Amino acid sequence: MGKPDVVCEVSTCNHWLPGKLCGAANIDILNEQGDMPHSSEKTKCKTFSKRGLGTMISSLDNVNWTGVITEAVLPGKQSVPTITCTVQNCNFWGSGNICNATGIYVTGSGANNAQETDCHTFVQRGNR
Ligand code: SF4
Ligand code: SF4
Repeated sequence: MGKPDVVCEVSTCNHWLPGKLCGAANIDILNEQGDMPHSSEKTKCKTFSKRGLGTMISSLDNVNWTGVITEAVLPGKQSVPTITCTVQNCNFWGSGNICNATGIYVTGSGANNAQETDCHTFVQRGNR
């Protein structure tokens, strides 16, 4: 199984790159509260970091620099983070906190915090 593509519309995040790409080295997808989610709105990208100088510096330790630089030279699918996902009741979830989808779509246009982001690809286990 190859690494899932990550397409993200959250342009207010420090990690976001033009073309709906994510420049983070790894993203953490979590459920928003204690209970396992029953809809994608209850999931979030915890790696979201509100765009701004202070937060940009603090998020620099989680940058896929090779991908970001390659992306600048060869626009396309060069910048794809690994995914660590703890949403165990998603159909695509696999042991070891991996995502078995071919790609995920992260939504939350204009988000100010991680709660406002979602893994839109979430499908409740048993509903596919
Ligand atoms: S919200 Fe998540 S997937 Fe989107 S750019 Fe930020 S870290 Fe990457
Ligand atoms: S599709 Fe499911 S398993 Fe993959 S990141 Fe989203 S919530 Fe996690």
